[in-house]
Amino acid sequence: MKLFDSHCHLNMRHFKDDWKSTYERGLKAGVYRMVVVGWDISSSERALKMTDEAEGVYAACGFHPHDSKLFRDGDDVKLRKLLSHPKSVALGEIGLDYYYDNSPRDVQLKVFEAQLALAKEIDKPVVIHVRDAYEEALSVVRNVGLPSSGGVLHCYTGGTSFIEKALSFGFYISFSGIITFPNADDLRESAKMVPKEKLLIETDSPYLAPKPHRGKRNEPSYLIYVLRGLANVRGEEEEELALVTYENANRFFRINYL
Ligand SMILES: [Zn+2]
Ligand SMILES: [Zn+2]
Repeated sequence: MKLFDSHCHLNMRHFKDDWKSTYERGLKAGVYRMVVVGWDISSSERALKMTDEAEGVYAACGFHPHDSKLFRDGDDVKLRKLLSHPKSVALGEIGLDYYYDNSPRDVQLKVFEAQLALAKEIDKPVVIHVRDAYEEALSVVRNVGLPSSGGVLHCYTGGTSFIEKALSFGFYISFSGIITFPNADDLRESAKMVPKEKLLIETDSPYLAPKPHRGKRNEPSYLIYVLRGLANVRGEEEEELALVTYENANRFFRINYL
């Protein structure tokens, strides 16, 4: 069974000493491909460096809403350069996080809009992070538009109330280990509403380890539990869902998989 971890952060300090062996454990568990996601310039550079050192690793480069307050003049030029690397497959993660509010909301909005406009200009798919701001994020997308290559709502937590609206924008929806958490019934309901061809799975390592590893440092080799959780909810076969999500991720990130 081949799996694609559409979103992980092996570039974080949590994996400073053992990212390579963590990657290899993932490989043994069937995770043949993964996208390592940056949140600022230096983490995006680290992600790109990993793509040179391990097969099947791709990078997303961009400014996370948490770090948007650190976006400086000239960073857009650096970002463009990073995004021109052949293994730089998406602009991300970008978006709005009104739960933590680590950056002022007006700054989050400005940096999100600017990066979305850049993605449109260079036609890179976008990886979007939203927490407690689905209405606001969708209204930015409505105003600025999406690149023709589209976007993914990563670690989707908008539940049933936003899923139809999200799908109407053509978004891919990526589910994380939260799908295995006991208090996530509304999320599980929303997972049933996503057409197969729009589904992605992710670990968001080192965060959100799925049951039975909840609370531990998450890693790509745990992706099987996310797949299993999603398959159970949807009443589908694991093997088939693995194949579908693998193909979806390759199509979305425009990676040749034949
Ligand atoms: Zn995120
Ligand atoms: Zn992330």
